[in-house]
Amino acid sequence: MKNVTDYFGMNVFNDAKMQERLPKPIYKALRKTIENGDALDITIANVVAHAMKDWAIEMGCTHYTHWFQPMTGVTAEKHDSFISPKGDKVIMEFSGKELIKGEPDASSFPSGGIRATFEARGYTTWDPTSPAFVRDKTLYIPTAFCSYTGEVLDKKTPLLRSMERLSTEAVKVLHLLGKTDVKRVTTTVGPEQEYFLIDKEMYDKRPDLIYTGRTLFGAMAPKGQELDDHYFGSIKSRVSAYMHDLDEELWKLGVFAKTKHNEVAPSQHELAPVFTTSNIATDHNELCMEVMKKTAEKHGLVCLLHEKPFAGVNGSGKHNNWSISTDTGENLLNPTKHPEDNLQFQLFLSAVVKAVDEYQDLLRITVASAGNDHRLGANEAPPAIISMYLGDDLGALVESIIEGKDYKSHKAARMETGVEALPDFKKDNSDRNRTSPFAFTGNKFEFRALGSSLNIACPNYMLNTMVAEQLKQFYDELKDASDVESAVKGLIKKALTEHNRIIFNGDNYSEEWVQEAEKRGLCNYKSLPDAMEHYIDKKNVDLFASNGIVTEEEMHARYEIELEQYSKLLNIEALSMLDMAKKDIAPAVISFVKELSEGVAVKKKISYKLSTYAEEKTLESLSKKLENFSKKTNELEEALAETDKYTDNLSLAKYYRNTVFSIMGELREIGDSMEKETSSEYWPYPSYGKILFGV
Ligand code: ADP
Ligand code: MG
Repeated sequence: MKNVTDYFGMNVFNDAKMQERLPKPIYKALRKTIENGDALDITIANVVAHAMKDWAIEMGCTHYTHWFQPMTGVTAEKHDSFISPKGDKVIMEFSGKELIKGEPDASSFPSGGIRATFEARGYTTWDPTSPAFVRDKTLYIPTAFCSYTGEVLDKKTPLLRSMERLSTEAVKVLHLLGKTDVKRVTTTVGPEQEYFLIDKEMYDKRPDLIYTGRTLFGAMAPKGQELDDHYFGSIKSRVSAYMHDLDEELWKLGVFAKTKHNEVAPSQHELAPVFTTSNIATDHNELCMEVMKKTAEKHGLVCLLHEKPFAGVNGSGKHNNWSISTDTGENLLNPTKHPEDNLQFQLFLSAVVKAVDEYQDLLRITVASAGNDHRLGANEAPPAIISMYLGDDLGALVESIIEGKDYKSHKAARMETGVEALPDFKKDNSDRNRTSPFAFTGNKFEFRALGSSLNIACPNYMLNTMVAEQLKQFYDELKDASDVESAVKGLIKKALTEHNRIIFNGDNYSEEWVQEAEKRGLCNYKSLPDAMEHYIDKKNVDLFASNGIVTEEEMHARYEIELEQYSKLLNIEALSMLDMAKKDIAPAVISFVKELSEGVAVKKKISYKLSTYAEEKTLESLSKKLENFSKKTNELEEALAETDKYTDNLSLAKYYRNTVFSIMGELREIGDSMEKETSSEYWPYPSYGKILFGV
């Protein structure tokens, strides 16, 4: 197995295998379902199931599983074997019904109170648009997940629905503009994934990493990322071996893993695939995160996907590159050579601008998580304020449209290297403003506020739905116009004028922007509870309900689930801190203090002339800190005892954020300053230095 082209997709029941293994009419019917969303007949499913099973068995499989994405934020699977008893023997069977429908017990998945437990049956339904694959001797079938009573319980269903919605509305608009050959429009996504890679031995010694995925204590090492020497730095051999293995695994699974490099923080890296449809990109990103973790195990490493595993260095995020293209092969967000004459591009651009402005709160909400709260607003990730960057060229175009002036293109400048032997080339006109949360980058938008562990289905179904809604409104306004061209121009001008406030080309990390954004009336929700509160605002409920993505009831369920998860996570973090503080850190410092005191006593016995200055200095400082540490530990314990008082999820989440989380920060500060003074022989955990520079 040397050639990537030979083994790429070998573990996937992909198009080539379907074509090879299915009778022609069956293959054609299945393609129709995949391409146009046509309903699938059970007789066809039976034949597909049979072929899938035969292939899976040839690949060494004994089991199959419906693979789904419940609201827990991680994927779920329940394995069934293919065996079916025949007398005292077995045969291997797999029916169309088993392919189409699964019935995992749904009672233990978060439902936000939608179902009474006695109705806890859930159904998984085959998603034929995302190919089945083989892992660990098991056939994985991507599925959607809903409750017995039909409510959506997962992240995939709303995504699929939103893709349909956007397609329907975009096609209507395109037909109005004369593109009548377009039958379908798809959204595409390329998610760049950041991660940390640390030594397994170090990891095993850190209960905080084990329980919460991030370090709850840990003094900064003498060196961090200030030299920028890790970013794009040469990749160490151990990491490189891991990355090779990872690429190979992903390629076998049909994932278009493309780019890899070292990121800003020590031990931090990134992987980016080539983009594909939103649905497959989502499944592939989930798969990618799992394979990243599994592959690390083989190399004695641990892959951390938490948004902020280490304080003091950058955390990890995900960049969601998003665009819309037609089945005729046109990217609708491609400005082309002359965007000033391209009304179609301008119209789609306006739809996105209007959508992002009207639903900026939703975009903020969709990236809110306990982990991401550590990043947004710090100088490493975009702020909690959503705005858009269009770049010089498009910025000037929008300005000219609003002001009714002529547009002067910033002609793509040539990059002159000044060295005869090096070729000159055209400079990229699009964004190099890395501080914007939502930037236009050539022919796509890059949503940069996502946390590294997020399931990208959510931001994408929100994006798709909010843009579909704008296109629907545009269509309604344009459909009866006698002069479509001038109506389109009027509409573009109106939309850009009214929503210009969301466009910001400056430094998003600056304090001035925070003030400016407030003047513009943009939202600035600093934490998950602050943001989540607005999820169920009427305009947001109306958006999803009227577009048939999720119902009001399902939104309320999602709202409860998110808030509840948040409080639970913070509770686990607080309990882990208490455990570490009481069982490891305080005893370690007490022992060290004891040794110092005994040292002083011994010296004094030998001769009163011996200096005990160093010991006493440290003793004095650590004793004081130990006292404060102990008091803070009690305070945290007392704060946790108060949580019973809160009966609704929102006020409980706010209490965790405003009170518990603050005390945790204070406790950590004292702990970290003790670490700096305590002998490393005594300190119970590997230091940041050992972890971050160890691999
Ligand atoms: P950068 O690091 O400069 O942000 P990368 O080249 O690492 O950019 O990543 C860009 C990502 O955008 C890749 O995953 C790429 O496949 C994706 N991308 C490119 N074109 C599109 C498109 N039309 N739709 C969605 N994603 C796209
Ligand atoms: Mg990027």
